[in-house]
Amino acid sequence: MKKNTGQNRSITTKWRPATRAVRGGTWRSEQGETSEAIFLTSGYSYDDAATPAARFAGEEPGMTYSRTQNPSVQMLEERIALMEGAEACRVQASGMAAMTAAMLCQLSAGDHLVVAQAAFGPTRWVTDNLLPRFAIEATPVDGRDLDAWKAAIRPNTKMFFFETPANPTMDIVDVAAVCALAREHGIRSVVDNAFATSALQRPLEFGADVVAYSATKLMDGQGRVLAGAVCGSADFINNHLLPFQRNTGPTLSPFSAWVVLKGLETLDLRANRQADNALEVGRFLETRVPRILHPGLPSHPQFALVQKQMIKPGSIFSFEIDGGREAAHAILDALELIDISNNIGDSKTLMTHPASTTHSSLAAETRAAMGVTEGMLRISVGLEDPQDLIDDLDQALRKAGL
Ligand SMILES: *Cc1c(COP(=O)(O)O)cnc(C)c1O
Repeated sequence: MKKNTGQNRSITTKWRPATRAVRGGTWRSEQGETSEAIFLTSGYSYDDAATPAARFAGEEPGMTYSRTQNPSVQMLEERIALMEGAEACRVQASGMAAMTAAMLCQLSAGDHLVVAQAAFGPTRWVTDNLLPRFAIEATPVDGRDLDAWKAAIRPNTKMFFFETPANPTMDIVDVAAVCALAREHGIRSVVDNAFATSALQRPLEFGADVVAYSATKLMDGQGRVLAGAVCGSADFINNHLLPFQRNTGPTLSPFSAWVVLKGLETLDLRANRQADNALEVGRFLETRVPRILHPGLPSHPQFALVQKQMIKPGSIFSFEIDGGREAAHAILDALELIDISNNIGDSKTLMTHPASTTHSSLAAETRAAMGVTEGMLRISVGLEDPQDLIDDLDQALRKAGL
């Protein structure tokens, strides 16, 4: 075996975040490959009958079957855990597989959860439509309002769930305050950190119990694969999440795991550059549109909170124009460089009209309550030269008569 320290926690936890992102979790085969290998195998063979017996009994570490474990997948899990500052991590086939697993692995019939209303659409489908079928009730609240969280607590409340910044309104939840409230009442807090990633925000440092991800977004960062992750204490991951996951099977493929693993090596660079680009584009748009919702601009109503809990505001923001859906669609149609796409976190800049895409399945009143207006556009800023993005937006606004 070649010298390698990526799996040795007594060494890797001494590394600073940038080093963890590049080398954390690396496991080398006897070939000594510098780039991590893709182990495209579903099963494993053993030298003797005692070995699988010991592994199945949990007396010896090692692979048994790729629904439970795979070397490429394990490298990714260890790297994400190190970057997050978590004791443990498990990855899933998509972000929604991660959110669903994080909820179902710890909730039972008769339990109650509180969810910030400005959550990802499918997350709200799970809390509003799926969980009630199993007698698990969810109360949606305005995530910005600590009193609303407090008022929603019941004797059977087991979980708080929120994302921050939230899609597409850029609502910010006070992670420290809401998670402290949860702790006080023996409630587990789960944070969907997809918009920021550990490069820009670390909820565990602010008291969150569990951090869940769509790794499809900034972690892959180049729009290639779907993936999800759940991070937390070793007890939560091993005794709640893992039994659920290994028996229900929302497993990530080794190939996708490898793609995300290599994506993480550049996450810090990309997240920082994309956030810087988004600030430049935001400063331009602020001079041209009536309303902008950008966590990095002092005009954001929760700017002070952003400064407190985010390392840097992210690469995604929204803005509103007069003229409703027609004007918003006209701007999208006039774009020459920026793509019309509802994805986010790509190195290519993408723009969407949430009311007619990501949030179209919600009732008009729910959309309105969340603040998703007909004139709102969301932009996920990539790695292009920001001046080219500004030029494109400028000509598109002009063409749309704005
Ligand atoms: C995309 C996204 C998800 C879902 O992730 P998938 O990988 O598409 O399943 C969940 N939460 C947030 C905030 C997202 O942006």
